[in-house]
Amino acid sequence: MLEDRILRELEGIVGPAHLLVQPEDVLVYEQDGYVLSRSLPDAVVLPGSTEEVAAVVRVAREHRVPVVPRGAGTGLAGGAIPVGGGIVLVLTRMNHILEIDPRGRLAVVEAGVINADLNAAVAPYDLFFAPDPGSQAASTIGGNIANNAGGPHCLAYGVTTNHVLGVEVVLADGSVVWLGGKTLESPGYDLTGLLVGSEGTLGIVTKAVVRLMRKAEGARTLLAIFPGVDQASQAVSDTIAAGIIPTAMEMLDAMTLRIVEEAVHAGYPLDAGAVLLIEVEATLEILDRLIGQIEGFCRSNGAREIRTATNEGERALLWKGRKEAFGALGRYMSSLYLADTVVPRHALPEVMREIAGIGERYGIPIANFFHAGDGNLHPTLLFDGRSPEAWERVVAAGEEIMRVCIEAGGTITGEHGVGIEKQEYMSWMYSEADLQAMKKVKEAFDPHGLLNPGKIFPTGKKAAHLLQKTTTGIRPVSGELWT
Ligand SMILES: Cc1cc2nc3c(=O)[nH]c(=O)nc-3n(C[C@H](O)[C@H](O)[C@H](O)COP(=O)(O)OP(=O)(O)OC[C@H]3O[C@@H](n4cnc5c(N)ncnc54)[C@H](O)[C@@H]3O)c2cc1C
Repeated sequence: MLEDRILRELEGIVGPAHLLVQPEDVLVYEQDGYVLSRSLPDAVVLPGSTEEVAAVVRVAREHRVPVVPRGAGTGLAGGAIPVGGGIVLVLTRMNHILEIDPRGRLAVVEAGVINADLNAAVAPYDLFFAPDPGSQAASTIGGNIANNAGGPHCLAYGVTTNHVLGVEVVLADGSVVWLGGKTLESPGYDLTGLLVGSEGTLGIVTKAVVRLMRKAEGARTLLAIFPGVDQASQAVSDTIAAGIIPTAMEMLDAMTLRIVEEAVHAGYPLDAGAVLLIEVEATLEILDRLIGQIEGFCRSNGAREIRTATNEGERALLWKGRKEAFGALGRYMSSLYLADTVVPRHALPEVMREIAGIGERYGIPIANFFHAGDGNLHPTLLFDGRSPEAWERVVAAGEEIMRVCIEAGGTITGEHGVGIEKQEYMSWMYSEADLQAMKKVKEAFDPHGLLNPGKIFPTGKKAAHLLQKTTTGIRPVSGELWT
């Protein structure tokens, strides 16, 4: 609990309506989309302007209170969980689109603008903001920037870092700076690039200048139906190896297809081993040729049928199934743990087989729907969260999946960030010298370690991400693991 005088200072900045301290009010901020941890904040503030964010950070700095920035809380790696308590600073009131410049193909937005709202606002200009995480109906541009979010269409367009020209940032001392701006290049160090993906540990993004893309002349959406994941994976590998980069190439396995179809009625086949949802955008001149080549790779790898969406309604329905897959799985099973990892595309068939084996060994159903074109896997472990024993199996299986992916030449996260979920795995990827170099960057930005502390860097404690400070008492693993 923060001292009264600190609370009075915070209330003086944001007003009583935007400071939450009662247990029943702060409860919903103890967790984000990561199911294995939770921790209560001491206070939640909802500032309405950059000046208010800066003033809150100055109070926090003076009293040495941690500050955890938060957008919509859809993050899947626990990045917005206040592991050491302190202030959760929620940016959702800062949701104004400040400028749309169709000629310059850019927009200036506050950090709390929802990704889908930005896209709806720029659509009349035939423009779009390319990063399209599955959470885009809820997640904020600030959260997308902090996690360097990806999405189905990032295969061709690149992830968030490729679409951010500048950011206004509140630094740990409460000062406000602009990094980058409206021009395509800024001289000197790429500090904008450094902030993108820094998960709220280097500064709080309050505004951003983002690039907008023009819609392609022609687009087509296909559903290729395969007997199994192996064949679909090979079709992905062959397509990209031939130098063709579809805008999106998403895979759904048999289990996901059945669960999604029951909930969403997207017209997915119930008897398929896997499908690829493929989207291609190009000039009309070359679209047919590209589609022909991709269909060829699908058929030579055993696709029994390739459906093409014939109108916008059919296209939207095919995508609805993919975008609502996580929700559909949640309808099917009470608790989901969605892992995020990347493997080289050529390793997809083998890694997918190993993941299936892990699921069988641990007795945990694993559904797969993922950005296959990037080799970015999302094995989703379905379990009954009421059973502490199930949590233990999920943690162990999740760790084994990570090891398999790294041994295949992959990495521990594709797009969801490190947060607390992956912090112990960082030492699998980096040497102590690498981690020390990263810590020096953190210290340069945040000498007192107040911005989103306890994230990204390994603590050396096994399963340190499974926290004690819970409200409901659900404790996934036994006590000694976090001592
Ligand atoms: C159904 C579902 C589908 C998803 N699909 C995808 C996907 O396809 N691709 C993908 O990349 N992710 C996906 N995600 C994960 C998540 O939605 C993204 O990481 C998203 O960018 C998080 O945005 P948010 O506003 O919810 O941020 P939060 O969850 O609130 O925060 C995420 C991190 O960013 C920090 N942060 C938030 N706002 C700021 C700010 N203004 N300044 C500094 N730091 C900040 C937080 O401290 C935290 O570390 C999905 C999640 C769900 C639930």
